[in-house]
Amino acid sequence: RQASAPDYLAGLNPEQRLAVETTEGPVLVLAGAGTGKTRVLTTRIAHILATGRAFPSQILAVTFTNKAAREMKQRVGMLVGEAVEGMPWLGTFHSIGVKMLRRHAELAGLKSGFTILDTDDVVRLIKQLIQAEGLDDKRWPARQFAMMIDGWKNKGLGPSEIPEGDARSFANGKGRQLYQAYQDRLKTLNACDFGDLLCHPIRIFRAYPDVLQEYHRRFKYILVDEYQDTNTAQYMWLRLLAQRPQGEGDWRSSAEGRKPDRASAGQAAPAEGQPPQAAMRPVSENRVNICCVGDDDQSIYGWRGAEVDNILRFDKDFPGATIIRLERNYRSTAHILGAASHLIAHNEGRLGKTLFTEKIEADDAKVHVHAAWDSEEEARAVGETIEQAQREKHNLNDMAILVRASFQMREFEDRFVTLGLNYRVIGGPRFYERQEIRDALAYFRVVAQGADDLAFERIVNVPKRGLGEAAIRQVHDTSRALRIPMLEAAEKLAESDELKPKPRAALREVAANFARWQAALDHTPHTELAETILEESGYTDMWKNDRSAEAPGRLENLKELIRSMEEYESLRSFLEHVALVMDAEQQENLDAVNIMTLHSAKGLEFETVFLPGWEEGLFPHQRSLDEGGRSGLEEERRLAYVGLTRAKKNLHIWFVSNRRIHGLWQSTIPSRFLDELPEAHVEVDEGGSSYGGYGSSYGGGSFASGRGGRQNPYGASRFDNLGAGGSGTGGAGGSTSGGGAFSNTYATPGWQRAQQNRTEA
Ligand code: ATP
Ligand code: MG
Repeated sequence: RQASAPDYLAGLNPEQRLAVETTEGPVLVLAGAGTGKTRVLTTRIAHILATGRAFPSQILAVTFTNKAAREMKQRVGMLVGEAVEGMPWLGTFHSIGVKMLRRHAELAGLKSGFTILDTDDVVRLIKQLIQAEGLDDKRWPARQFAMMIDGWKNKGLGPSEIPEGDARSFANGKGRQLYQAYQDRLKTLNACDFGDLLCHPIRIFRAYPDVLQEYHRRFKYILVDEYQDTNTAQYMWLRLLAQRPQGEGDWRSSAEGRKPDRASAGQAAPAEGQPPQAAMRPVSENRVNICCVGDDDQSIYGWRGAEVDNILRFDKDFPGATIIRLERNYRSTAHILGAASHLIAHNEGRLGKTLFTEKIEADDAKVHVHAAWDSEEEARAVGETIEQAQREKHNLNDMAILVRASFQMREFEDRFVTLGLNYRVIGGPRFYERQEIRDALAYFRVVAQGADDLAFERIVNVPKRGLGEAAIRQVHDTSRALRIPMLEAAEKLAESDELKPKPRAALREVAANFARWQAALDHTPHTELAETILEESGYTDMWKNDRSAEAPGRLENLKELIRSMEEYESLRSFLEHVALVMDAEQQENLDAVNIMTLHSAKGLEFETVFLPGWEEGLFPHQRSLDEGGRSGLEEERRLAYVGLTRAKKNLHIWFVSNRRIHGLWQSTIPSRFLDELPEAHVEVDEGGSSYGGYGSSYGGGSFASGRGGRQNPYGASRFDNLGAGGSGTGGAGGSTSGGGAFSNTYATPGWQRAQQNRTEA
């Protein structure tokens, strides 16, 4: 077998091959963008399977986004064919976490049909708790506390483990108590939030060594992509799964002596009082087949608790680790790579690495930088560039627009709808976030899981059934007093005479409906049941009778919802999918432009990439600037690096001089990151002019005069020319009068100058 290399190894460079073939023991691949880290992982899986080292079900492979998980599955599928279908443990941290939690839900105090709450539900729940405490929810916003909880869970901290300072900072010192109340409430609702998908398994692993051992026996190989972005909880989870002690290792002594009683399992906190990692020690004698790949320059989730240090600590956690560096970039042209490397070199806190490419061709385009008046013009110009490319037979699938903030998407979406250009939004909860979809899902959730009070509350009076606030409050009170779900409370109230006849009749009907649907759950095809629910509840009729302009669209969406359920085996698996895959693409199979945030573009690659909105305050984001210090800004720069390195061939960066942020028009300054791009690899999209010439056209005069008769009050809009072939058209203007409205502020010879202005602005 060793003599002639199998096909899948052909084409790998020696370092990549080493990373693939070093199957035993810990391996860390630390390398820059586009060097084939993900390719190494997928090939490694193929190698493990092809050499019979493990069955597909014995491999745990973790990625960060659903999209990345799908791509990995696809790539492995191309190498090993059908076998990939037998890999249940290939997915995101969350999807694997939920699978584990379903198997051991009781150990966390849940039942296996538990609901996964989305942010919206969480916020509503917390708001109730804050109000129940008699606190002012304006002074202590639920959203803020939801973020705090999320932060604690990213660190793997339960209510009893959070730092005193944190506990004191919210709600007059009631932080810890509220967090505990929240966890208790989740249990009553038979629900968990996203953070729990890892925190519960971590606690279970610690409290029940036999459960952990089962996974140790199961997983022969562990692989992790984008390791630089693991947060503390993910790291703890991984370490628990990866470290196999021989006999009774030190690592679990803290879990021993703890009675594995059901009641406390959900909150068990074996490592209390210690930093999380201190609970375990490296296990040197036992080699662990874990392979992590990552790039410290692409660490972009610090704001969500990611610890780039995890990558630096790898060989301490896993002694004897083989560390492999890859230096050849296979993705991008020399211009793109040159621009990205130059930019990231401005960061101080980095390991530093060499990157080179052999993709050098004479007609490679430089990185294009474009200016626009405002975001509408930006979207229009990008749209024209895309249409032009489409005429030249480029696929829309190969193009991506990567935005810093999701609000930037709307402008592009609007524009593309007008142009009839297909697009898909990746990573955004768009479709499922619509009101009618949320309502319908709430019905389904109550049917699937009767204790889901948040869902129940959402639709108990939708459509209107004459249930006033008083009646609903009474349902609430009864539910709380008797510690039963609201649906049960409604049943009880419907039979008592505590309510007036009208609401009582309404509740009786609601309760009877849900009882009937729940009874049908197991023996009616779920799409049929879903349709029945929407009909019998009067929900569909509500929109049929609605005269508003949106109503027909909403009915179509509901139909689409039912259609989309067909792909799933059951209502439950569909609901799980919805909860997890809020970024489900529509138009998956259509040729369509991809729109997403920079954060969700991690690991992906496209022929052509558009990076709009490179302005101070948007990118780098104002928050990172306000923070002061270096770290926020450096994370933004890494994000820019991620953006630049997504492109294979063409890269277009845009900035506008006016932008509406939170409803207010603001004049803006080009991003400092533009200054940090090397002149040699950049072309300002303007008839041959470089930095200097660029400033004058930005000043507004040149093109306005060249084009006469434009109704644009600002005088400058050279980007209308783009679709017609770019630079040639208007270039002649050169340096005529800088008459535009913004020439006063912006008629500077280039970004360097604008940079200086920033302090004055
Ligand atoms: P990122 O840091 O952005 O996640 P990465 O290091 O994971 O990047 P990959 O996505 O695995 O890089 O690879 C980048 C591109 O280079 C892919 O299109 C991949 O197929 C290609 N590639 C990687 N290695 C080779 C190779 N040895 N020969 C040819 N192409 C390769
Ligand atoms: Mg990758």
